[in-house]
Amino acid sequence: MAKTREVSFLDSVSQNFDKAAPHTGLPDGLLQQIKVCNSVYQMRFPVKIGSEYQVIEAYRVQHSHHRLPTKGGIRYSQKVDQEEVMALASLMTYKCALVDVPFGGAKGGVKISPRDYTTAQLQKITRRYTTELIRKNFIGPGIDVPAPDYGTGSREMAWILDTYQTFKGGEIDSAGCVTGKPVSQNGIQGRTEATGRGVYYALKEIVSYKDDMAKLGLTTGMEGKTIAIQGLGNVGYHTGVICQEEGGATIVSVAEYEGAIYSKNGIDMKKLLKHRKSTGSILNFPGAKNLKQRKEVLEVDCDILIPAALENQIRKDNAKNVKAKIVAEAANGPVTADAQNILTKKGIMVVPDMYINAGGVTVSYFEWLKNLSHMRFGRMEKRFDQNTYNNLVSLVERLTGHTIGKKERSLITKGADEIDLVRSGLEETMITAYQQIRETSKRKKKIEDMRTAAFVSALGKVSSDYLNLGIFP
Ligand code: NAD
Repeated sequence: MAKTREVSFLDSVSQNFDKAAPHTGLPDGLLQQIKVCNSVYQMRFPVKIGSEYQVIEAYRVQHSHHRLPTKGGIRYSQKVDQEEVMALASLMTYKCALVDVPFGGAKGGVKISPRDYTTAQLQKITRRYTTELIRKNFIGPGIDVPAPDYGTGSREMAWILDTYQTFKGGEIDSAGCVTGKPVSQNGIQGRTEATGRGVYYALKEIVSYKDDMAKLGLTTGMEGKTIAIQGLGNVGYHTGVICQEEGGATIVSVAEYEGAIYSKNGIDMKKLLKHRKSTGSILNFPGAKNLKQRKEVLEVDCDILIPAALENQIRKDNAKNVKAKIVAEAANGPVTADAQNILTKKGIMVVPDMYINAGGVTVSYFEWLKNLSHMRFGRMEKRFDQNTYNNLVSLVERLTGHTIGKKERSLITKGADEIDLVRSGLEETMITAYQQIRETSKRKKKIEDMRTAAFVSALGKVSSDYLNLGIFP
């Protein structure tokens, strides 16, 4: 029997948008303006690799200019194409709106497999890509601000910054042209693990509602929840470590390119990463069994499934086999629009990408603010707060005649460092955004799934920006 074709990632985003649109009450013209990509820059540039020239295919898409700068990561992957970057850029607009980060959405993509290049060659490609962006005015602290995504990290962001500053000497806010930089090069504490930490804060909030959990047959709290993770990269790894160490969850299964492993008793994420670094594979990890195929991770018996690799992983053909009660889309677009319908019918809660992986852009926003203010967070108030709290504790001690221990005192009187403020800002952001989405789905009874509720919430915010601009009076 011929298989019916699965829609593309961009079509999935479009279908999800169309499903939410009637619940917004917004005029068609405005919806159409929000939906389309405002600027698509497709480039081809030559890079000399060894003794040969290679033509590199790359993109930068700015989905929405309703707020500037636009913002979104840069992906290095052999699977990059224009449609994929357009889909990812669209999601960035809705994501920023959901978490009240004042940017339009954007995304970049370079069609290469980083594994095929040396560090020096990757640097050459990254610098040339940045030069192309500068040439067309597609990068700048007030124009468009890239960040890491699949296949890139702080190293690439440092190259981008250096290239930008080479061309734009003397531009006072130039450090804000890219985020996700190393802390030593105008980055911010806590950006590397921000997306994973955001996933954790979101899950902690989601599982705290007794009535919601009762519907899924789950108890409240992260403690003891069983989790399966696809992808041991930036997002998957940090999500796993934080859920395990701070939430007390049990990671029962992990998949990577080379295969998947399972252990009912739990997989220590830090040890697993060390094992992969030393053996080149997650397979044969002590205490865990190898699964036959890497995609089996999506079908293991667990409470929470976290796809943290790429899009289109849970599709029409395998959605019926998902056993998790909650699917948390740490990756962008891992559940297709068709699969979403199947999971909803099965009573599975799908937490949409545009909400649950928004921790990265949230902390990128903090980094950008730090760059524009030219000062690290906490510098002005830390000592002042510490002295005030110390005076207060001393006063209470004097009045009560009781003294507290040194350790306890330093816990109470500690002024906030940059990392404390970043975590607190991120937690607040993830909790508030979830409450807004939950409120939307409770208010609009006909909304079937959390993705539609998130879309409605985001579209409400983007549209009011357009209306405030007076473009759609
Ligand atoms: P990454 O490159 O650090 O890691 C991804 C990992 O997934 C890689 O190790 C890769 O080998 C693995 N992988 C690929 N295909 C797989 C498969 N079929 N099965 C198992 N493993 C597979 O990328 P990342 O930054 O962690 O991004 C992952 C996803 O999260 C992407 O969809 C990205 O758009 C999204 N995301 C990333 C950020 C961020 O801050 N980095 C923020 C928001 C969303």
